[in-house]
Amino acid sequence: MTDYPDIQLYINGHWREGAGARQLPVHNPATGKVLGQVACAETADLAEAADAAERGFARWRITSAFERYKILRKAAQLLRERLEHVARLMTQEQGKPLAEARMEILAAADTIDWFAEEGRRAYGRVIPPRQQDVYQLVIQEPVGPVAAFTPWNFPINQIVRKLSAALAAGCSIIVKAPEETPASPAELIRVFIDAGVPDGVVNLVYGDPAHISSFLIAHPVIRKISFTGSTPVGKQLAALAGEHMKRMTMELGGHAPVIIFNDADVALAAKTMLAGKFRNAGQVCVSPTRFLVQEGVYQAFVEQFVAQARSLQLGNGLDAATTMGPLANPRRLSAMNSLTADAQTHHAKLQLGGKALDGAGHFFAPTVLTEVPPEARLMNEEPFGPIALINPFATFDDAVREANRLPVGLAAYAWTRSARTAQQIGGAVQAGMVSINHLGLGMPETPFGGVKDSGYGSEGGTEALQAYLNPKFISQAGLL
Ligand code: NAD
Repeated sequence: MTDYPDIQLYINGHWREGAGARQLPVHNPATGKVLGQVACAETADLAEAADAAERGFARWRITSAFERYKILRKAAQLLRERLEHVARLMTQEQGKPLAEARMEILAAADTIDWFAEEGRRAYGRVIPPRQQDVYQLVIQEPVGPVAAFTPWNFPINQIVRKLSAALAAGCSIIVKAPEETPASPAELIRVFIDAGVPDGVVNLVYGDPAHISSFLIAHPVIRKISFTGSTPVGKQLAALAGEHMKRMTMELGGHAPVIIFNDADVALAAKTMLAGKFRNAGQVCVSPTRFLVQEGVYQAFVEQFVAQARSLQLGNGLDAATTMGPLANPRRLSAMNSLTADAQTHHAKLQLGGKALDGAGHFFAPTVLTEVPPEARLMNEEPFGPIALINPFATFDDAVREANRLPVGLAAYAWTRSARTAQQIGGAVQAGMVSINHLGLGMPETPFGGVKDSGYGSEGGTEALQAYLNPKFISQAGLL
């Protein structure tokens, strides 16, 4: 018996099948079994969603910020009330342990609350004029209907940051949610509907990602694109958005360095970074990946990290004892196999794991590789899985050189007891986010985004609301 429903599209205030009645199967990554079906949108459905978003925007943009705030707060409350139901759906479709699914959902409710509040503070300003009878005003207007494309690793969290910011700013939105994990996103949309968001303001589609993105990005109604996913796909979508002069936010891949200096609290660093590394089986864009450990504490760090990784409990996320679930899809499993094999042909030392588990489901053992040469693929490609790479370094400059070697720059971590080193490393690392002596990223109130090939724009902090607003300058004379 499964409590997993078939999932429909939500367009213009109605749940329904796609025009072609086409469906895709949804699998449970812990068992490999089919859980249910998800509806696919055709061109006619997407055109209807764009029309709905245009009408929804006309209505929502003139809804007061205070009214929008009340609806968003209600949605957050409903999400908290439905926690257990939604968490079970998420674990079944995505694989993460129930405790992690609950954390994601509660964090999403906090995100909705935060953007609800922030939308009431989308202040403009008055600029001193050069002439006495002139008022120079800057007002903040919602950018317009948004198309959002989100991946399967955090089925709710990746959507909620775009959805809440867009709604708080007064935009309507079409969400292209992940086909592989569609049920928990549908429940997220449902709380907004039940909270009173008018028809057309929020629309949800699934289907062929390339077809949907090429249709919506080019569509004249859509004014803003937000994408979370891999760098290659992000570049394609950014090129298309550029062709149609659409604003965009790109939250792409990373390959986070973790720099551990000789004077670090090694035990705390090992425990904290282990939790960060193996959360969601490593399928996290800010996952700690390239551990650079100064020679004096290298051996101690490797021993402590490996010992703790060994005690992770792999299993079905619905089992209370599970601390790491399966990979979300078979693509990740084959990627882990080939990346690990490649590292070994480059003479990296396998300290732990390195193989898929026998039996059903996409399970890959927590893996630790040391002395991994820079030419190994793993040192250059985002593993997006449960693999930690640990290499020694000698000097501060060596660590910074390696940290900044790659074209991506999303998250970075550092551990030191020296205030001077902490200050220097914070400035020296090329990343959108640096967390020093703790795991401190991803709150709704703090910026979230990358530099270089990791994309641009922020999905947290006041910057995230600005991403859905256009400043309009009004110069008005003759009132005095
Ligand atoms: P992928 O690169 O094909 O897809 C990544 C995401 O982009 C998926 O959600 C997919 O549906 C979407 N996508 C793909 N092509 C698209 C298109 N033309 N238009 C719109 N959306 C499109 O591959 P994948 O196997 O799903 O993931 C592989 C890699 O993607 C991972 O190794 C990781 O680097 C990256 N990824 C990053 C994040 C993140 O949080 N930044 C999340 C998931 C995946």
